[in-house]
Amino acid sequence: MTKCPCCSGKDFADCCQPHLLLKVKPLSARAMVRARYCAYALGAGTYRDFLVRTWHPGTPQKVNAADLTNDNLQWTGLEIISAEQKGEGARVEFKATFNDSAGKLHTHHEISLFRREQGVWLYVDGRVSES
Ligand SMILES: [Zn+2]
Repeated sequence: MTKCPCCSGKDFADCCQPHLLLKVKPLSARAMVRARYCAYALGAGTYRDFLVRTWHPGTPQKVNAADLTNDNLQWTGLEIISAEQKGEGARVEFKATFNDSAGKLHTHHEISLFRREQGVWLYVDGRVSES
């Protein structure tokens, strides 16, 4: 069995994989952050459908196909710092680490906002602070 890339310690098949295959809806925004992280970590090209579908339709599409298929980055870890849910909205703060194509380590520190629509958590926006 393969451990899930989201650092949950669970097997991929019991963690984010069913979400990425669009078989099971993540029940929380926290689970959505994990699944979206995995989509990037595993090569966003593979799970492009998942990323596109979990984008809130009212969000200006800052991401284009080139970004989603950028496999030059090697994602190395995810740490969820906090997750709050209020009604149909949620806010998740996390840090994800990656190596760029030159092998330099970066930390992507983001506060993501989610909105639940028809039982599905959708990514609305994120505030990024490079640290
Ligand atoms: Zn996972």
